[in-house]
Amino acid sequence: MVSAPPVHVLRLGHRRERDKRITSHLGLTARAFGADKFVLGGEEDPNVIETLESVSGRFGGDFQSHYEKKPMGWLRNFVQKDAGDGSPGVAIHLTMYGLPWKETIPEIPRDRPIAIVVGGAKVPGEVFGLCQYNISIGNQPHSEVAALAVFLQSWNPGGADASNFTGGLTVVPMESGKQILSPGESLD
Ligand code: SAM
Repeated sequence: MVSAPPVHVLRLGHRRERDKRITSHLGLTARAFGADKFVLGGEEDPNVIETLESVSGRFGGDFQSHYEKKPMGWLRNFVQKDAGDGSPGVAIHLTMYGLPWKETIPEIPRDRPIAIVVGGAKVPGEVFGLCQYNISIGNQPHSEVAALAVFLQSWNPGGADASNFTGGLTVVPMESGKQILSPGESLD
C-alpha cells in the first residue's frame, strides 16, 4: 500500500519556561494522532525533544522530532523548495483568523508533504502569506493542542490507530483497569 506523504508539525515561538508542558503535549498529540515529524522552533529546549523520544522509544512507531534554530527559514524552504523529497510542500497555518476547517480541509492537496504550523508567542505576520492555507478550528481563541488534534483527526481519521505504533508497548483497550503488552507479547 502506498503510504501517504509525510505530515510535519512546526511549533513556532516556544518559550522554554512558559510553554514547556504545552509544547510537550503538542508534540505528543502530533505523534498520537498520526503526524510523522515534529519541528520545534523558538527557544531551544532539549527536555521537550527528550520527552518525545522517550515516549516513541517506549510506545513504538517512527515519529521523529528535532529543534530548528531558524523555523521561518525551514518553513520557507518547505513551501518554496524542498519538503523532503526535492519538491515544495503545502503549509497549513492553524489560526483563529482562518477559514473554517470543515469546508477547507477537503480542498488541501493530498499528494504532497504537509507542514501544519502552530504558534506560541506572537506569530510573525509573514506566516499568513507564506502558508497556502490559514485554517481556523472555530473563530474563538483556544489552544494549539486542541487545534492540532481536531485538524489531525479530520486529516487522517485512522492516525491514532494502534496499528501505526509498532515495536513498542501496546495498551489493550479495557472497559476498566489497565493492560499493557510488551513488544512481541500477544493477548492469546
Ligand atoms: N499569541 C499568538 C498570536 O498572537 O498569534 C497566539 C496564541 S494561541 C494560544 C497559540 C496557537 O494556538 C495559535 O498560534 C494557533 O496556532 C492555535 N489556535 C488557537 N486558537 C485557534 C483556533 N480557534 N483555530 C486554529 N488555531 C488556533
